[in-house]
Amino acid sequence: MSGTGSTYNLDDLLDRALSSPLALSSGEMAYLLSLGDDADVAKLHAAARSVKLKCCGRGVSVRGLVEAGNICAKDCLYCGIRKSNAEVERYSLDADSIVAAAQEAKSLGYASLVIQSGEIESEAHTQFIETVLGRIKPLDLGVTLSLGEQTEEVYARWREAGAERYLLRIETSDPALYATIHPAECRWERRAECLRALRRTGYQVGTGVMCALPGQTFASLAHDIEFYGGIDADMIGMGPYIPHPSTPLGQNAQFDPKRALSLALNMIAVTRLYLHDINIAAATALQALADDGRERGVMAGANVIMPNVTDTRYRRAYKLYSNKPCLDEAATMCRACLDRRLAAIGEELLLGQRGDSPHFHRRMDKCLKA
Ligand code: SAH
Repeated sequence: MSGTGSTYNLDDLLDRALSSPLALSSGEMAYLLSLGDDADVAKLHAAARSVKLKCCGRGVSVRGLVEAGNICAKDCLYCGIRKSNAEVERYSLDADSIVAAAQEAKSLGYASLVIQSGEIESEAHTQFIETVLGRIKPLDLGVTLSLGEQTEEVYARWREAGAERYLLRIETSDPALYATIHPAECRWERRAECLRALRRTGYQVGTGVMCALPGQTFASLAHDIEFYGGIDADMIGMGPYIPHPSTPLGQNAQFDPKRALSLALNMIAVTRLYLHDINIAAATALQALADDGRERGVMAGANVIMPNVTDTRYRRAYKLYSNKPCLDEAATMCRACLDRRLAAIGEELLLGQRGDSPHFHRRMDKCLKA
């Protein structure tokens, strides 16, 4: 890591960031990301949280997460469900199981659902997702898909079938760093083009990166935040990179969980300070590094949590990284646990609310007025 500097005045920077979005330079953001002193970090996170409270109000939006399958055509060098990992038992939920998970989410008061899986590009898969979307439509949930890179036509078909939001992490905004963590056939440019296609198709668009990747600098992470602003993202999902031992990048990896966690939290805080009114998720990967990782994400400016509603039988098989939490906790237990955890920090789940990105609505208002 590089990019620290002592020429910055923390209080001045935070004042400026609080007063309006997009007010920080790339160098200033790199400096804020590098903060490690407890008192400085506390100030940074408190400032981000005050922007969260101003723009998103009190409370945390909740999405039930369904891990619909771990069959994947991609071979990302960091990911536990990569195609070449022969140790993974592959599964894919049938439509009834996904609908059951959606009903479970609804009965817990979650008005929003995320369907995530490994990456499959085929007509059969496209149709399967269309069928699932049709069947969960009567539940009136805000549906997010996270099903990887697809053609614009497929995105349009799923949008038509009822999905409103799509989450596709760019993983890093630096094409050179991207090339070191993906095989040659995975092209950064295609991922960036998919984000533009999602925008054209009318989705609320979410993206994000992994933090603490090997070779990633503070300057690169600051650039990631500028990238979010550049594509006018509505939602951000970011988390720490956590090595998985059965992957090329995770073998013999040197890993400092404390550093990865503090970097991921600083990323949430600086992203909130730069973009103000977007939705930011406190990723489950934060909880893999510290029991209270997600609450700390909320305290650093996040306003969304995505508890797992997948049947516990399948959770072990959807292991993107080591030490995945809540493998045995049924959705009702997750709900009770979350209520308790959020109450401890003076927050609560926003039940019965879809939790659209405030930024998305502002963007739409601007379009209508133009
Ligand atoms: N295939 C879909 C979604 C599944 S992967 C897609 O491409 O969007 C979801 C996210 O998990 C990825 O975007 C990546 O950022 C994250 N992930 C994968 N392996 C990880 C690891 N070892 N540590 C932390 N996050 C990881």
